[in-house]
Amino acid sequence: MIRKWRMIQQRVMVLALHFELIKVCKQSGARLGRIHTQHGVIETPIFMPVGTQATVKTLSPEELKEVGSQIILSNTYHLFLRPGHEIVEEAGGLHAFMNWDSPILTDSGGFQVFSLNALREISEEGVAFRSHISGEKLFLSPEKSIEIQNALGADIIMAFDECTPYPAERQYVEDSMRRTIRWAKRCIKAHQRPDEQALFGIVQGGMDLDLRRESAERLIELDFPGYAIGGLSVGEPKEQMYEVLESTTGLLPANKPRYLMGVGSPDSLVRGAIYGVDMFDCVLPTRIARNGTAMTSMGRLVVRNAKFARDFTPLDPNCDCYTCRSYSRAYLRHLVKAEEIFGLRLISYHNLYFLLRLMEKVREAIRQDRLLDFGEQFIKQYYGTTDIQLTF
Ligand SMILES: [Zn+2]
Repeated sequence: MIRKWRMIQQRVMVLALHFELIKVCKQSGARLGRIHTQHGVIETPIFMPVGTQATVKTLSPEELKEVGSQIILSNTYHLFLRPGHEIVEEAGGLHAFMNWDSPILTDSGGFQVFSLNALREISEEGVAFRSHISGEKLFLSPEKSIEIQNALGADIIMAFDECTPYPAERQYVEDSMRRTIRWAKRCIKAHQRPDEQALFGIVQGGMDLDLRRESAERLIELDFPGYAIGGLSVGEPKEQMYEVLESTTGLLPANKPRYLMGVGSPDSLVRGAIYGVDMFDCVLPTRIARNGTAMTSMGRLVVRNAKFARDFTPLDPNCDCYTCRSYSRAYLRHLVKAEEIFGLRLISYHNLYFLLRLMEKVREAIRQDRLLDFGEQFIKQYYGTTDIQLTF
């Protein structure tokens, strides 16, 4: 009996991921939690900066830590094409290769194969496509995606899926979702490092609530350590996205983390948390920074606008980040206009700081059972309107 118990204990200790649900906000139903991984603990709800090519564009790992990043995301598709997963593995894995010692999540490559390749061919086996860099003919399958992700060595890896396009015929959505389930089973079978890397399943099913339910239920049977919600924020109206999100999170087990893929506008982060999402990622804060746009407590600010030429106040007077403590809007505008990389760096730094601080405030509000109040106040200030409803 004791021996059996020890064996169970040992099994628990080597689990790649453990989710601790700390509390549920009495006002909103949002979850406060902790995800324990082999490279440290993540406080949830959390936003994950995206480091497509094993780097969050323009920022060093030290700066990522300064702005409060607890986990970053990197893209399997891009690293497979360049430099190749074998080289990353030879370097000792992605953590060593990019000098990031905190948790990492890699996606499956599915999303990029579908979105960057007009000439792809989908079959039961996988997806044939051409490299957008060299034009070379390549093939990704559930087994290949997991092989690459095992070599990269991220703490959380994703099942190979099809992100169903929008709009799509119901029959297509149904066939695609069922294939994604069959692929999910193949991913589990192919996974070589389950004690070190947690493999998440991805709920698909388009905008059809019954198909979403079927997808969620069949994935839950496979007992993944976490679940993602994919195929949202793909062009559908926002209210429809929230309807699908709310009904899908309601189907997922409370004791596993939930990850809403590719969503990162400030209102979606707050509202997603209200619906019980624990993890988010999006290129938005760094992408708009490179166009010279900042997220501030008063809403979006387009730094290149002429009206900031002589504005010597900080980007966001309510922000205490390095950029806002040290530089003016006029200087940042000058850098953006002159196409100086430092300007893009400073705005990227601020935007990530802003979103990660927002998530910190969301966690604080959950702790105090007042996330609806906080969300309403935040959205009023950010969007200058109360038209964006947090509850139905
Ligand atoms: Zn700032």
